Amino acid sequence: MEQIFTVNEDQRAILKTVARFNEDEVKPRAAALDANPDPAQCFSWEIVERAHQLGLRTMTLAEKWGGLGADSLTTAMVVEELATADMGVSVVLAQTFKIAQVMQKAFNQEQQARVLPGFARDPRGLLAIGMSEPGNGSDKHLNIPVPFRTAADRTRGGWIVNGAKHFISNGNRASHYLVMVQTDRTRTMANGSSCFLVERDRPGFTIGRVHDKMGERLANNAELVFQDCFIPDQNVVGEVDRASNIFAQFSPQSNAYAGASVLGVAVALQRKAIERAHLRVQGGKRLAEHDGIRAQLAEMRMLIDASRAYIHRAAWLADHPDVGWDKTLAILPKAMASQAAWQIAAWCLEIHGGHGYMKELGVEKLVRDAAAFLHSDGVNRTLFLKAANAMFAN
Ligand SMILES: Cc1cc2nc3c(=O)[nH]c(=O)nc-3n(C[C@H](O)[C@H](O)[C@H](O)COP(=O)(O)OP(=O)(O)OC[C@H]3O[C@@H](n4cnc5c(N)ncnc54)[C@H](O)[C@@H]3O)c2cc1C
Repeated sequence: MEQIFTVNEDQRAILKTVARFNEDEVKPRAAALDANPDPAQCFSWEIVERAHQLGLRTMTLAEKWGGLGADSLTTAMVVEELATADMGVSVVLAQTFKIAQVMQKAFNQEQQARVLPGFARDPRGLLAIGMSEPGNGSDKHLNIPVPFRTAADRTRGGWIVNGAKHFISNGNRASHYLVMVQTDRTRTMANGSSCFLVERDRPGFTIGRVHDKMGERLANNAELVFQDCFIPDQNVVGEVDRASNIFAQFSPQSNAYAGASVLGVAVALQRKAIERAHLRVQGGKRLAEHDGIRAQLAEMRMLIDASRAYIHRAAWLADHPDVGWDKTLAILPKAMASQAAWQIAAWCLEIHGGHGYMKELGVEKLVRDAAAFLHSDGVNRTLFLKAANAMFAN
């Protein structure tokens, strides 16, 4: 258990590699990519390919599949470090980290042997998960008894899928997708939808619009469109009509890494606030010498430390569920970290005065990024309702 309070030597080494990757690959590109008005052009394959060369892209794959076999706590640390340089880059990789973990748990042996070695070798291999639809957002989190609109009909040897998903992170960039599809229209998402593995080049599957976003721009979000798309039985992940089991396996890491992404932005905001408070002189002394500002910087520190402790505990227990896991740990850490980051964003802006609102100091990018996880991975209010459901379930 002491692991969640310390950083061990292996973790220190990998975090050092990530810090160098941030300096060499991410920071020099981030501002220009973020400023591109075309959302699809904000993405960088160079960054992904370099992450591949360093072993980061596949770090959650077991060594037998060509990865580093990193645990969830170490991965959460890496995601936070990545996000201190750019949140979009952290999300591109965090999606891949957590879906690779789910694939290893939920794929049968044939699926693992068919997919994982190729994914490990491909320098551009990225992963995505498609649940949200224009008509279905929060309902999937709250077990509302409605079906997905993206639905499949049985055919010989598989399923024919029609419909669309939207807002999907890595949607236009992934090599492989896990997609939740209604396979029994008479039932709800919870007991009538299945998880399908979809390869990028599958006939009948196309990428729709790439969404233009206010922040987190170095990650792309896109629509997934299915038009009479044949999915063979071999691509059903887990049991038919039980996509909810896959979602349950995915949620612990998803929530922890989402929290870690937004926490990295909070750290970057706090660094900027401290730097500014030491540079800027008003009222005859540096801002850092004014009590109101000093107290605010300490409160930022408290919010960051508390959020990190919550995320680390959840990430560690996700891998050791027998010693104290409870379902709220897959729901609340991201909500806490995103609220903390949003508060810190407002304070950082305030400490910068008008200079924060001007683009040149880079604060406004961080403010836009900090907003992403108020909604992504579940709107916070929805997550509080979901946690209450978990707390009071009998
Ligand atoms: C940057 C980003 C990345 C994303 N990436 C992915 C992805 O990779 N894969 C994927 O599948 N999805 C993804 N999403 C979608 C995300 O999961 C949904 O946006 C989210 O679940 C909310 O759904 P919605 O946007 O339809 O909002 P709605 O469900 O329409 O919610 C709107 C508001 O109503 C509230 N509300 C909803 N239901 C209730 C209720 N029963 N009681 C009280 N209040 C309620 C919500 O809390 C919210 O405030 C992403 C979204 C974003 C912004």
